[in-house]
Amino acid sequence: MTDHATAPLLCVRGLTTTLRTDTSEFDAVSDVSITIGRGEAVALVGESGCGKSLTALSLMRLLPSVARLSPPTSVTFDGVDLATQDDAEMRKARGRKMAMIFQDPLTFLNPVMRIGDQVTEAIRVHNVLTKAEASQLALESLERVRITAPAQVMRYYPHQLSGGMRQRILIAMAISCKPELLIADEPTTALDVTIQAQIMDLLADLRRELGSSMLLITHDMGLVAEYVDRVYVMYAGEIVEEASVFDLFAAPKHPYTQALLKSSLSVDRRTEVFETIAGVPPNLANAPKGCRFHPRCPVAIERCAREHPGFTDMGNAQRARCLLLEEGA
Ligand code: SF4
Repeated sequence: MTDHATAPLLCVRGLTTTLRTDTSEFDAVSDVSITIGRGEAVALVGESGCGKSLTALSLMRLLPSVARLSPPTSVTFDGVDLATQDDAEMRKARGRKMAMIFQDPLTFLNPVMRIGDQVTEAIRVHNVLTKAEASQLALESLERVRITAPAQVMRYYPHQLSGGMRQRILIAMAISCKPELLIADEPTTALDVTIQAQIMDLLADLRRELGSSMLLITHDMGLVAEYVDRVYVMYAGEIVEEASVFDLFAAPKHPYTQALLKSSLSVDRRTEVFETIAGVPPNLANAPKGCRFHPRCPVAIERCAREHPGFTDMGNAQRARCLLLEEGA
């Protein structure tokens, strides 16, 4: 029998999300498997449009009407398969089991509603509390995200706050029910670098205080290096590499990961080493045959245009999807 304390908190297997357009259907997320341990911080990285955010929305079952989960998707959270839960059960799971922090607080916050009312309402969606109790919890959540004068801020409207403060409000909403998993989707992209660091440090502190796990969705390898334990690299709707953060930076195995690291800011952010990745990500409605990265891959071989690579296990829980690794190169 699996010990509850040692079993992973989240175990995603074969996650496949199909998008429907007027003329076709295609898998925008294909056969994604992710495991997150209790208290672990994991990143999902890749260029924009690779399917990272859609993966997160799939986990939360917050998909737009043109998207659906397809077989063989299985999403097990704390031993329960979320892919088969009905909407009412999922509503309960969101907020209390897992909560999401979005990239742009302005699109999430209601511009004509006071901050206090919005946080209070978010709390009451997931808890049976009186308005006064929820309001007290909202105040405590604002304090927890280090907002000074929280009682005053409760009376503000979103436009009266800075971008960093608005992101703190979203974080306060997300942590108000003490979720076991925080999914942070590019939580600092819209902020300047100093504020980014403050928000990421806050998330790291809250994660420790609450004992939560975190899935950080980002394209920023600097944040990955600093704030997570393990990394999944995504390209064109698929995971192409999985490794501990140390192994990924020390010895990236997939040519896409190598290119991504070269195209990122250096980890200490003192030097900028931009080397753009040639070409553009493929249109997933018409994904390339064989390895999806082959049209951009600098080391592609003849097989790459024909064969879709499976994972090669590199030891030490590192694995990558590349035919060269299969060939032992
Ligand atoms: Fe490059 Fe081929 Fe490996 Fe794909 S399978 S990453 S094209 S070498």
